[in-house]
Amino acid sequence: LFLAVEGPDGSGKSTQAAALADALRARGASVVLTREPGGTDLGERIRSLVLDPAHAPIDARTEALLFAAARAAHAERAIRPALAAGSWVVSDRYVDSSIVYQGRGRGLGLEPIATLNDWATGSLLPDLTVVLDVAARTAEARRRTREQGAGHTADRMEQETANQHELLRSAFLERAAADPERYLVLDASRPTQELTDAVLERVWHA
Ligand code: C5P
Repeated sequence: LFLAVEGPDGSGKSTQAAALADALRARGASVVLTREPGGTDLGERIRSLVLDPAHAPIDARTEALLFAAARAAHAERAIRPALAAGSWVVSDRYVDSSIVYQGRGRGLGLEPIATLNDWATGSLLPDLTVVLDVAARTAEARRRTREQGAGHTADRMEQETANQHELLRSAFLERAAADPERYLVLDASRPTQELTDAVLERVWHA
């Protein structure tokens, strides 16, 4: 099966994706753990281009196309072959990230980005997309621990970040609510192990 782990920055996607891959392997499954942007050599190079501050700000359409290009390579060269070989695929981010970040966050519209990515992936969708739901405050605290540590006071910039977070968060939740068969929303403040168990309960039928 193909599982995607989604959610805003600071929701713990990478930790959760790795824990899920470990748990599946412990049950004897062959698992390919991968991420976006990235997942192939070409995709990782596109990732460095997009995330390089030297290119910031990238205009929104260019950004959407670069993410979609990386994803096309990822779907064709990494995900489809792994699934064809009988492996599970766990991807840290997939199409929902683009629909939410470029469609909502950058204002390009959810529908055009969904259409672009449907084309880019040849309509390859995850069997289940796990959305890690986290409040802005918790996500911010996680980001800060990851990036520096140290105490500080909330300023205007941070408030804007919180607004942006809620914008993206609500877009993820709306997508999940529209298709409960394909999505599982989990409270990201719960312990990693509990979240892994909740996903396995949904996808592991031994
Ligand atoms: O998931 P990760 O933190 O590695 O993503 C790197 C950065 O790329 C994040 O800051 C995320 O906000 C951004 N991103 C984006 N649009 C996507 C995927 C990721 O803006 N479609």
